[in-house]
Amino acid sequence: MNFSDLNLSPTLLQAIDEQGYSSPSPIQEKAIPPVLAGKDVMAAAQTGTGKTAGFTLPILQNLSTGPRAKPNQARALIITPTRELAAQIGESVSTYGRHLPLRSTVVFGGVKINPQMMRLRKGVDILVATPGRLLDLHNQNAVHFDQLEVLVLDEADRMLDMGFIHDIRKILALLPKQRQNLMFSATFSDDIRKLARTIVHDPVEISVSPQNTTVETVKHWICPVDKKQKPALLCKLIKDNDWQQVLVFSRTKHGANRLTRQLEDRGIKAAAIHGNKSQAARTRALSNFKQGDLRVLVATDIAARGIDINQLPQVVNFDLPNVPEDYVHRIGRTGRAGKDGQAVSLVSADEIKQLTDIERLIKTVLERKVIGGFEPVHDLPASSGDFRSFKAKKPKKPNHHQAGEGRHGGNQPGKSANRHGQAKNGNSRRKKPGGGDNQSGNKSSPWAKASANRGSKAQG
Ligand code: AMP
Repeated sequence: MNFSDLNLSPTLLQAIDEQGYSSPSPIQEKAIPPVLAGKDVMAAAQTGTGKTAGFTLPILQNLSTGPRAKPNQARALIITPTRELAAQIGESVSTYGRHLPLRSTVVFGGVKINPQMMRLRKGVDILVATPGRLLDLHNQNAVHFDQLEVLVLDEADRMLDMGFIHDIRKILALLPKQRQNLMFSATFSDDIRKLARTIVHDPVEISVSPQNTTVETVKHWICPVDKKQKPALLCKLIKDNDWQQVLVFSRTKHGANRLTRQLEDRGIKAAAIHGNKSQAARTRALSNFKQGDLRVLVATDIAARGIDINQLPQVVNFDLPNVPEDYVHRIGRTGRAGKDGQAVSLVSADEIKQLTDIERLIKTVLERKVIGGFEPVHDLPASSGDFRSFKAKKPKKPNHHQAGEGRHGGNQPGKSANRHGQAKNGNSRRKKPGGGDNQSGNKSSPWAKASANRGSKAQG
């Protein structure tokens, strides 16, 4: 399929062409027609699938007709959980809409509110916002929604994970009832479906990703190593392989800071991004990394969500994530849009549980490469390679409030406390992953062709 088969206007086709995209990605093929037709859409897709263009292009087209935004009004509202993602969506809106006379702006917390209020004064056709700052701006009368035509809730699962549900409900209460609703989420858990029922009406449901498969263009393996040796091993890998742009994942903010210092001490330019850093520091680190001024960006999972860097060749898991689905998200940062990438995980003996969970989830035993001079003293146990019953075998984590360690004891199978504990787990945020990573469709997908043509890229 070509973009010209999707009924997009010549102006938008020109912008797409200038981006070097030769054909739509699967999510774009599926989402653009219903969004253009004004329908509600609920889509399982994550960052890296091209979903931003999937909703931005048809929204731009629909907004290019109709009355312009009045002062302090917004016609389309895109809500997204993180500042980085908001900034990136804002860039996409500007890029794809560069030949249209539409106004857009991005607002998020952590920076001064006044310039944002000024930009909203004339009214905007598209407003990209994080939830908290949007409410602040509304409370200060800087933005109203009487003219609102479209709502996009992006990364809905992450929005719930980050505790934005109350803000979302407050925002929904401010919007006109008559509007188009688009909801995107990497996973569709029960909680997300519950939220969706209050937002979308009779939606077109789209899913482009097989569950929890890893990106096929990414080569990934693990290096068994003792915990203490990880910083030194990382430096060796960076230097020996001459990696110039490495995104390193750390489980904790503290760990990210410490590792950044250790890398700097060894002469490798690095910076950390995580929730405790100011927005200015995060933006600076990301842009320095994108421009190649920083060799290593150390990020926590939440901060890294949505980072989109063209041709990011190398991802390192300095430690494995506790939630196995995050592994899929993390390595999805490389090998994007059909490009090749590699992801290596430094795994110490105490991480065998995380490793086993990941291998069960992706149904693959990860290749192990021990690096000379870093042979672990504490052996990483062998993988079982038995993936048959991932769900059934998953250990039941009793809820502390309910599952009686003492009161009901361990010897009373089937007692209610245990059942509650299980039910609670069943609702936990990652129990029903629905998204995985869509790029597994790469082999036959249009991405491969598109990437060959791609010269410059707006998102940098
Ligand atoms: P997203 O999932 O929206 O974050 O997009 C991921 C990346 O794919 C971005 O760098 C986009 O610029 C790029 N992209 C979006 N649509 C296409 C397409 N049809 N062909 C090639 N690259 C694309």
